[in-house]
Amino acid sequence: MSSGVRVRFCPSPTGNPHVGVVRAALFNWAFARHHGGTFVFRIEDTDIARDSEASYEAMLAAMRWLGLSWDEGPEVGGPHGPYRQSLRRDIYADVAERLLAGGHAYHCYCSQAELEERRERARAQGRMSGYDGQCRALTAEQVAAYRGEGRQPVLRMRMPGRTIAVDDLVRGQVSFDAGQVPDYVLVRANGQPLYTLVNPVDDALMGITHVLRGEDLLSSTPRQIALHEALRELGVVTGPMPVYGHLPLVMGEGNRKLSKRDPESSLDLYRQRGFLPEGLLNYLALLGWSLGDDQEIFDLAEMAAAFDVARVNPNPARFDLKKCEAINGVWLRRLPVGEVAQRIVPHLVAAGLVASEPTAEQRELLVAATPLVQERMTTLGEAVDLLGFLFVAEDQFTVDADDAAKHLAPSPGAGLEVVAAARQALSTLDRWHTAAIEAALRAALVDGLGLKPRHAFGPVRVAITGSRVSPPLFESLDLLGRDRTLARLGRALA
Ligand code: GLU
Ligand code: ZN
Repeated sequence: MSSGVRVRFCPSPTGNPHVGVVRAALFNWAFARHHGGTFVFRIEDTDIARDSEASYEAMLAAMRWLGLSWDEGPEVGGPHGPYRQSLRRDIYADVAERLLAGGHAYHCYCSQAELEERRERARAQGRMSGYDGQCRALTAEQVAAYRGEGRQPVLRMRMPGRTIAVDDLVRGQVSFDAGQVPDYVLVRANGQPLYTLVNPVDDALMGITHVLRGEDLLSSTPRQIALHEALRELGVVTGPMPVYGHLPLVMGEGNRKLSKRDPESSLDLYRQRGFLPEGLLNYLALLGWSLGDDQEIFDLAEMAAAFDVARVNPNPARFDLKKCEAINGVWLRRLPVGEVAQRIVPHLVAAGLVASEPTAEQRELLVAATPLVQERMTTLGEAVDLLGFLFVAEDQFTVDADDAAKHLAPSPGAGLEVVAAARQALSTLDRWHTAAIEAALRAALVDGLGLKPRHAFGPVRVAITGSRVSPPLFESLDLLGRDRTLARLGRALA
């Protein structure tokens, strides 16, 4: 049985999904699931100039990747569809007509230049510089005159002359005095309905009970409340006013609000780097909320079970990439090895190390190698650098130039001498496995050449893996196999 709670996630499909949007989706999702309610996914694509189909697809793909399932919305449908605002034009035109006829909205004929000029004057005189209500009560003659000049009006909301109080779930009582919120545009002169109209209209028509969204939208709330009341008076809607909760701002570097344009706010970046949805969502949940005093790691089900919007912290939350990575690392270590290997595959594919369908042999190698790196990675993408030497084609294998200069020097007593001794020792091994490899190398390099382990194994590591940083050496050689190991050591010498 549904509890009657209905929340919505209603992004505008402009650009790539960003972490602020994902946080809003997550909190609404958790609220819906906690209350056994309905999570509505609506696409606010009324801005033809800025919205794109690619961004719409990306939004759906992001939600699927994150595992945030919706109950009504694109592709799943529902009783209040369509859920793309671009398909609801007739509804908005009809509502606009009724608002106008009922006197809740009016035509404003002021030109941009006139508005600008009056705004300037008001500012200079220290008065409020919002719309001054000039067209609130035009006479028939004035209207006729404007029309005669060929002016096309915008539709403006007539804000009621009384205080509007918001009982915010996160911020408590917030109130807006009469006259503080100017009459605002609902429909452009060209007939295009704006966010100011379509968002609260759809919240009302879709029976939304709770609106959880970023604090930056708090200032639009009194307008939306006024509009909802007008719709109710007109009989367009009968349901109750939604309850609002404004989530804390997310701050980026330097204590500025994290903006869409900041690279670290792009969800794509996290996917490409190999964040797990589990880890990313866990971290985003902490931007304003926590499960309990000392439980930082939790999954979606635990979050849904415990979510309480009254416990959302109203103070700005700082986005801390290091912390996000650390939490992702915890999630990486939690997953079964086979699962981690599976999720590494797309990163090896993207790096061109394996074909989009890796061979059975490559999969086996990956599963065997994953335990060597699982503990030390914070993102899946790191596997490319750490394990790439196992998958790279032999004729593509290269050694990092700096590491080569440092560890594979040809002078007497330097790296290449070590590599030669290692090759000699390994070529006579009769069984190729980690313990035998380790014993042979220790005997030849530490005992034989009298080197400290660090100096003994560094050159071998660089020659074999191409870099100073690699998974544990003896296991790496074991996985790489005798032939490739000897070939690479030989190549370093040549
Ligand atoms: N489409 C709006 C946005 O993406 C929705 C804001 C709201 O939740 O009301 O900012
Ligand atoms: Zn006007």
